[in-house]
Amino acid sequence: MILIVDDKPENIYSLKKLLEAKDFPVDTALSGEEALKKVLRHDYALIILDVQMPGIDGFEVAETLSGFSKTKDIPIIFLSAVNTDKKFITKGYASGGIDYVTKPVDPDILILKVKTFYRLYEQTMALNETQRVLRSEIETRKQAQAELKERVDYLHLILESLPQIAFTANHDGKIDFVNNKWFRYSHHSTIFPQTAPDDKSIQDAWLLAMMTNSALEMEVRIKEIDADSFRSHLLRVIPIKEQSKLSRWVGTFTDIEDRKQVEKKKDEFLSIASHELKTPLTSIKAYTQLLGRTIVDVQEHPANKYIDKVQVQVSKLNSLITDLLDISKIENGKLKMNVKPFNFEELLSSVIDTICHTHDKCPRIDRVGDLLDLVVLGDEIRIEQVIINYLTNAIKYAPNSERVIIKTSNDSANIKVEVQDFGIGIPVHKQTNIFNKFYRVEESSVKFQGLGIGLYICSEIIRQHHGTFGLESEVGKGSTFYFTIPLN
Ligand code: ADP
Repeated sequence: MILIVDDKPENIYSLKKLLEAKDFPVDTALSGEEALKKVLRHDYALIILDVQMPGIDGFEVAETLSGFSKTKDIPIIFLSAVNTDKKFITKGYASGGIDYVTKPVDPDILILKVKTFYRLYEQTMALNETQRVLRSEIETRKQAQAELKERVDYLHLILESLPQIAFTANHDGKIDFVNNKWFRYSHHSTIFPQTAPDDKSIQDAWLLAMMTNSALEMEVRIKEIDADSFRSHLLRVIPIKEQSKLSRWVGTFTDIEDRKQVEKKKDEFLSIASHELKTPLTSIKAYTQLLGRTIVDVQEHPANKYIDKVQVQVSKLNSLITDLLDISKIENGKLKMNVKPFNFEELLSSVIDTICHTHDKCPRIDRVGDLLDLVVLGDEIRIEQVIINYLTNAIKYAPNSERVIIKTSNDSANIKVEVQDFGIGIPVHKQTNIFNKFYRVEESSVKFQGLGIGLYICSEIIRQHHGTFGLESEVGKGSTFYFTIPLN
């Protein structure tokens, strides 16, 4: 909008008509005082200011406006009939005006000037707005950078206080921070500690992790710069994402040498103990059988009952020791499969028979799904062991249930066996560990006896058959354990 300031209404009238004819919005003021009030309240793109006015004259108005930040950029055209002298024109410019037009006004010239100033003002305003946006953008970025730096500093402080070797890398994998401990293993902050000659390369593994944007976890043997021997470490590198975009990597090397040594000793002990237990147990078994045969003629002899009980306990002990021996075989890579073709349906029927005979309180075992009357290539005894383990657990962990379901199915590539019970179930967060060595669900471990190794052995057997295994379970409703075996 353009503001015309003149004390003579007739002057205002003619100027207003002229500008409105050219589609300029116009406002008017009849004195300097009124003009100042209006300028503070509204936004104007141009002021056409008469110099000679009673009260505050045009120069004073212009001077006042140049002192306010809101109005200092509004262009002013002075109009004057009298003060055409050069010194008045100079005063007009000095007081903040941009142009000076003497009366009588040439309408074409005035319109040209108005148009130019109007455009200039609009451009100035647009420029100011751009500047303002830019300034606030810079401010926001500065603030974000400061916050980021604070967070990174905090992360470094934490990594520095860890007992592990720790490092961070930027999004494209360049190491940008290492803690002090790093330098006990590597001379340079960008070079990984040296690994044992026959260990996998950290660099290769990490390149792969970066390509797939996934966490890296591997065991490596590294050594301190001056040490003679390597120690096992667990290297973990995890990607940190911000707004679902990878921003950095954080990695640690944790010394697990002592833990590994203890585990090795424990495995050795288990292996020796189970071997040593096996021999006397075999003798006990043989002598009990002999004893049974010696008094077999006296059918009603009360000793027969006790001998049966001893035999049940001996066979329990025997299967425990066999499991422990299996564990040490797995540890030493000696659990070998004796692979031969066998009929799966026949195996399943015999397992169901065995289970019913060896359990006093055997639930109903419902067989559903496809009949697997086909030949499978595998270790029959080991696969039997898996099904027996699944079924034994289904009975053990469902003491009040009277039903177990075995569902079988096959497609052209695999056979699948599922054992479903209606027992205590397993909490979701514990399900991922169920097939781990010595893992037992705390809630059930008090009430039910066991070592937590059966499922671990099952998983190894299935793995060696290139099959898959898993479970679905809900607390209080029951569990379904399954495994698949490829047909080829
Ligand atoms: P064990 O039964 O000797 O403890 P397993 O390796 O067979 O060892 O099983 C590991 C753990 O998994 C068990 O201790 C138990 O907590 C849980 N588990 C296995 N099968 C079932 C099941 N059918 N229902 C509920 N929990 C089960």
